[in-house]
Amino acid sequence: LLQLLEPLQFLGWYYSSLKNCFVDLEALTEILMTKSELEDGNMELRRRTPRHESNAAAAEGNAPGVSLDLDGVEYSYQEDRPILRGVSLRVNPGESVAVVGASGSGKSTLLRMILRLYDVSQGKVKVDGIPIRDVKLESLREATALIPQDTLMFNDTIYNNVAYGDQNASREDVLEAMRSAQLDDLVSSLPLGHDTVVGERGIKLSGGERQRIAIARAILRRPRLLVCDEATSSLDSSTEAEIMNTLRSVARGRTCIFISHRLSTVQHCDRIHVLSEGRVAEAGTHQELLARPGSLYREMWEIQEKWEEEERTGEGTLELA
Ligand code: ATP
Repeated sequence: LLQLLEPLQFLGWYYSSLKNCFVDLEALTEILMTKSELEDGNMELRRRTPRHESNAAAAEGNAPGVSLDLDGVEYSYQEDRPILRGVSLRVNPGESVAVVGASGSGKSTLLRMILRLYDVSQGKVKVDGIPIRDVKLESLREATALIPQDTLMFNDTIYNNVAYGDQNASREDVLEAMRSAQLDDLVSSLPLGHDTVVGERGIKLSGGERQRIAIARAILRRPRLLVCDEATSSLDSSTEAEIMNTLRSVARGRTCIFISHRLSTVQHCDRIHVLSEGRVAEAGTHQELLARPGSLYREMWEIQEKWEEEERTGEGTLELA
């Protein structure tokens, strides 16, 4: 997915000249998606809960999250080199699930199917029970927000960087999204508060602060599906843990998919799917997978624990699978 976002990042550098043409990331994404020549569907997904009801609705358990069903999904970028070989999984509305697996196992490819950046070669993807090809791309995009590893930052104020998430949001909505992303400490420590300019690509902010802005921008859209693609993997472990706490709190009531290399960040998910050889080889909670003798998950967990221990003590350079 990062490959898709790289051109966006590049465009971000030229933000000042593009500012009048494209006001948000969604608009830029739309242009890229239009280019993909996917055939548009004509069905609308259920719309998000009206803005001022969404928090209350989520708190009452009236989950606005989407359901996702993948059945026998296959995908190849090139003939004779299948990447996904029959992925089946279900995500219920409001669940937080993770997809983990070795580098190159197809995690980002699977996300591309779920976001319909590409069409599956075989099998079915359904959103809220509707075949994804029948869903209007605009409706799918409206329901979805993505938090990538490196978020596009404009050389503008913190406030405006968050506000790009939804052009129709009121000032109070933007401030509320900032509070939910726990940006208050940062904002109150700055002389200009949320009017502080973040610098080219957010250079004046730490990685954790940039990701909090990314979270605020994403939730301002009130997505029914929140996708975090290695959203914390460029952060040190203590910042990563803090950001994961924030993500867990904003995930409540939405459907969330976490793609991550580091298993410690996804252990609280309702279910973890381990991708291997183009299929979901294992699925379960962290405890269930860890308790399964000889599981791939357990093997990955043990390797990562050793690696993290070595990182702490500064010994060795164990390679992750
Ligand atoms: P990582 O954890 O390293 O990001 P991943 O599990 O997300 O990896 P993918 O990015 O889905 O894996 O890639 C799966 C395989 O598909 C890899 O072998 C990769 O080289 C190949 N691949 C990914 N994108 C393309 C593309 N656009 N064209 C051709 N092959 C691709």
